[in-house]
Order: sequence, then structure tokens, then C-alpha cells
Amino acid sequence: MRKFVVVYSNMWVSLFMLGFFVVSSLLGAETPFMASPNNRSSALQHLQGTVVVLDPGHGGGDPGTLGVGPTTEAENVLAIAWELKSMLERYGAKVIMTRQTEASPAVGTQFAGERNGQLAARVATANRSVGQIFISLHNDWHDNSSVQGTSVHYDKSQDLALAETLQRGIVDQTNAVDLGVRRSNFYVLRNTSIPAALVEIGFLSNPEEASLLAKPSYRREVALGLLAGINAYFAGEF
Ligand SMILES: [Zn+2]
Repeated sequence: MRKFVVVYSNMWVSLFMLGFFVVSSLLGAETPFMASPNNRSSALQHLQGTVVVLDPGHGGGDPGTLGVGPTTEAENVLAIAWELKSMLERYGAKVIMTRQTEASPAVGTQFAGERNGQLAARVATANRSVGQIFISLHNDWHDNSSVQGTSVHYDKSQDLALAETLQRGIVDQTNAVDLGVRRSNFYVLRNTSIPAALVEIGFLSNPEEASLLAKPSYRREVALGLLAGINAYFAGEF
């Protein structure tokens, strides 16, 4: 009898949580329309039919920066990528992710045993796809824990416009310290054939940004900023 009661009450807990999930996802679906005071949603009309490759950095045996917050870089950027993917799809874009789980993107590919296999797998996903742009997502680290802000890195000249629109989108949406766009010879930038940018969102060495990046609400703000930046890129606003 006691066992029955436990099962029964678990069912109500499950139903309650299901209801909560449904309501929160419905509310979440409205956020892009409500989050921005300048009615940006009406201008998000340049995403329809675009194809975006999202590259959440690290994963598998490589957690990226561990930092001073409760979550790792690999966790943060995967969550931001999923958030951004659903926003992009809502506006008619197609999204290709180089990794969708905690696992390394090299797992199960021809690159699994290679030294740079994880990076090679990301680039191969982009270069074999019909993606129009490639966006790699990371969090930064600095020995000085007071350093804060966001920067976007590019390598090829065809990357610059994307880097600039992403940087502006994030800074405008989150009010992060603007560390600007920088030319960097990162593997995933120099080996991708499409316009590519690597976003360093906040510093996990900074207590304030490390704790913000663990929060779903802040990850959503970052995704909204990236969404606006991608839209501006396809709108030719650079
Ligand atoms: Zn990283």
C-alpha cells in the first residue's frame, strides 16, 4: 500500500512538472518578441531560409575552461547554442550543430584518433554542409579575475563583417564590456571555407560573469544578442 501511495504521489509531481515545463516553454517561445524594448522582432526578417553552423566549443574529455563559477565552458556554450538554435529556427533559419551533446564532436568520426580530431570534426561538419556562416562559441579566461567582457575573433577578411555584427549584437543585448573584434589564427577560423567567427562570451575567471553564464536567463540574453547579430549580418548591416 505504501508503495502504491509513493507511485501515486510521484505521478502528481510528474504531472505538475510537465505542466510547469509546458507553461515555461510557451512563455519562452514568446521571449524574443518581448525581450527587446526596441521591437527588434519586427526587424528579424533576414533569417528566413538561411543556414547557420553553430559550434559549441570543447566537449567530451575537454570541458574547456573550468573557471570560478558552478558550470564549465563546455556546458555554458552548449546551452547557449541550443537556445540560439531554437530562436533561429523560429525565424525560419536552418541550424547545423557541430556537437549536440556533451560528447566530443570527433566521437564516431574518422577524426576520433587524431590530435586535432575534435577541431577537424567541427571544420569538416561546416565545410561539408550548405551552411552560410560558422559561429564557434566559447568563454574566455584571464589571470586577472577582474577582467570582464566579450570579444569576437575572425581570421579571413570574409569573416570580419560577421565578427562585427555578432559583437555589436551581444554587447547591445547584454551590456557586456565591449572588447571588440580581433584577428586570431584559430584552427576553426582558418580552416573553414565559409565566413566564420569565434565568440568569447565573458570570462570564467571573473566571478560575476562566471555566475551569470551559469544562469538560463543570461544564456538566453546572449542567444538573443547573437540572433540579432546574425540577422544584421544577413541584412547587410555592416
Ligand atoms: Zn574555449
